[in-house]
Amino acid sequence: MRIDVVSIFPAYLSSLGLSLVGRAARTGLLDLRVHDLRDWTDDRHRTVDDTPFGGGAGMVMRPDVWGAALDDVMRPGPGLPVDAHLLVPTPSGQPFTQRLAERLTDESHLVIACGRYEGIDARVAQHVGAQHPVTELSIGDYVLNGGEAAALVVVEAVVRLLPGVVGNPQSLVEESHGAAGLLEYPVYTKPPVWEGLEVPEVLLSGHHGRVARWRRDQALERTARRRPDLLAALDVAALDRADRAL
Ligand code: SAM
Repeated sequence: MRIDVVSIFPAYLSSLGLSLVGRAARTGLLDLRVHDLRDWTDDRHRTVDDTPFGGGAGMVMRPDVWGAALDDVMRPGPGLPVDAHLLVPTPSGQPFTQRLAERLTDESHLVIACGRYEGIDARVAQHVGAQHPVTELSIGDYVLNGGEAAALVVVEAVVRLLPGVVGNPQSLVEESHGAAGLLEYPVYTKPPVWEGLEVPEVLLSGHHGRVARWRRDQALERTARRRPDLLAALDVAALDRADRAL
């Protein structure tokens, strides 16, 4: 997969060089490039914003600068996939979920446009959308100063799902927001007693069936307590008899 991120603060994205995403880029599982939007300006001050039509507070990012940048970055070229998909982080976008992250792993080229100020002139998504898929997405119901933190979230959530990125693919199976539709059960490691707090006895029993049942019960209870919306969305057919007895 290739991912391009365009921002006026490319240094903000430097943490993508760390951990699993960084290793994926170094080992060739991922082709990751970060661009400075100001490289597509042509004035002395490298201006990327202007006042909003209709008045109001704040500044809006200019369509001509973003258009030039995205035309370049999304243009198919030698070794570049034809079907680039533009992601625009915005608090008014569709919620970014694990399902959307999974769908995005099917793409060969993602481009992420990081807005700042009051956001990017709305014609940019229209312009790009005439030729490419465009998804405006929100990472949560709150407002950040810019799209960079959202880009970090999206890249990490998508890249860890690519084959070979997470060492043990089994760790992707039993996660929160996975196929079971439940939050994950609580996890423990050594020592078995710490600060007077004991690891649940069943986890030390070596009895795989009892451990699996305990984890399932914990996942159901935790989901019911913390995210009743997820529990309500569960398909009843996916529940076994012991689940329903809870
Ligand atoms: N005026 C915009 C609004 O009310 O929808 C908010 C703009 S925000 C200050 C600046 C930029 O931060 C946005 O263009 C977007 O790139 C990013 N951003 C802020 N909150 C976000 C969120 N919850 N999800 C994704 N991106 C966000």
